[in-house]
Amino acid sequence: MAMNTLTTTKDIRPADGELLLETVGLTKSYAGADGELPVLSGIDLQVRAGEVVALLGKSGSGKSTLLRCLAGLVPASSGTITYKNTPLTGANPGTAMVFQTFALLPWLTVQQNVELGLEAKGVAAAERAEAARQAIDLIGLDGFESAYPKELSGGMRQRVGFARALVVEPDVLMMDEPFSALDVLTAENLRGELMELWESGQFPTRAIVLVTHNIEEAVLMADRIVVLGSRPYGTIREVFEVGLDRPRDRNAAAFEDLIDRVYRTMTGRQKEGRTPGRSEAIELDKRTPANTPLPQASVDGLSGLAEMVLHRGGRCDLADLADDLGLEIDDLLPQVDALDLLGFTKLSGDDLLLTETGTAFAGAYVQESKKIFAEAVLHAPLVQLITRSLHQSPSGKLRAGFVRDLLAHHFTSEQVTAQLDTATDWGRYAELYSYDAEPQEYRLDENGERAAAPRS
Ligand code: ADP
Ligand code: MG
Repeated sequence: MAMNTLTTTKDIRPADGELLLETVGLTKSYAGADGELPVLSGIDLQVRAGEVVALLGKSGSGKSTLLRCLAGLVPASSGTITYKNTPLTGANPGTAMVFQTFALLPWLTVQQNVELGLEAKGVAAAERAEAARQAIDLIGLDGFESAYPKELSGGMRQRVGFARALVVEPDVLMMDEPFSALDVLTAENLRGELMELWESGQFPTRAIVLVTHNIEEAVLMADRIVVLGSRPYGTIREVFEVGLDRPRDRNAAAFEDLIDRVYRTMTGRQKEGRTPGRSEAIELDKRTPANTPLPQASVDGLSGLAEMVLHRGGRCDLADLADDLGLEIDDLLPQVDALDLLGFTKLSGDDLLLTETGTAFAGAYVQESKKIFAEAVLHAPLVQLITRSLHQSPSGKLRAGFVRDLLAHHFTSEQVTAQLDTATDWGRYAELYSYDAEPQEYRLDENGERAAAPRS
């Protein structure tokens, strides 16, 4: 489906470079169980008219928080946030947001959903209707004005999300992982169309800030990529000027080269002159469930990766491996994090390297590999927490809600659920505990007595 490109009210290209958004020394903390939990620290960022800025980082690195700060939806703990040199005192009048989940009102039609943003601004009904029709047209939804969200596919719903943001003609369009809830092809299509609109100068906004965890998406869309790192809290790790011609050619050497460089920064591979290893690894005895969240990797998934590395001689270049599997490098990151956390691999230069335990784990038959895993998994603080609590519980049972509440001080409920899924999978495989979905309870495994005792 092609978007209509004739409708626009502002011709904003060529870029004029005006400073639209700026943060200076931005710090953000949330109240947690053990005091203030820093999420962002020392963020200096500028967004200028004419540019697409990507905020790239792994889950939990503070991308959404930074975006919400820029949009004036959450206040800074310290430092300043300005829009056109004026400090924000509430919602930023120059921004509009597109979310990952479409956040449409189900009882309103497409037209009504799109008009919402204007209604809030007190725009008169006739003007509102006309502006919404234009935005709907621009974003390729012509003909769907009177449809309800439930009649639309995910891709079409997200188009409504875009139309609703664009209708207010914000100076800066903010997008928080807008393609990640869509299937691959739909996402690709929508990305392509948006960039065409942007490149043609027909986009009714002057700048875009895109939050993503997808390296390729960032390189494809952005003029500048701001990589956020998450340990011990969100800081700007590096900024890449993209400088590739548009529309971008994924097969160009420069494109691939940049992906490689960004990838290295994201995975914490060190630059020349510093000791090899991951900057994010936290010493074993300093790990807590809060500072070492469990990656979303099943035992099957991480074992699969370990075996592949073993088959390649215990050492391989991750980018090559991803390539051979027809995957994006991002797809492998949770498994790499998992292996790293468990002490099964380490990064050496550009290569992923199996450790001695990792080699034993990857090469062993199932019973032996379970035993190795059961020891290694106690390096995962959340698994350790569950195991230890179970050992201390007179009934040998533990409500999942208890763990959930503890984690809720540090993570969003989605992140908590994902981490509990991982902890359940890992603990079960290690035969440390089992889990009953009804009534959401962990139980010591019958073999739990002979399982590795938790460290204290
Ligand atoms: P990202 O978008 O990069 O995944 P977020 O900005 O959502 O990261 O979250 C960064 C950190 O801040 C996470 O550890 C998260 O649990 C925490 N966090 C986010 N929002 C809140 C909140 N409202 N209260 C407490 N902690 C939060
Ligand atoms: Mg986020």
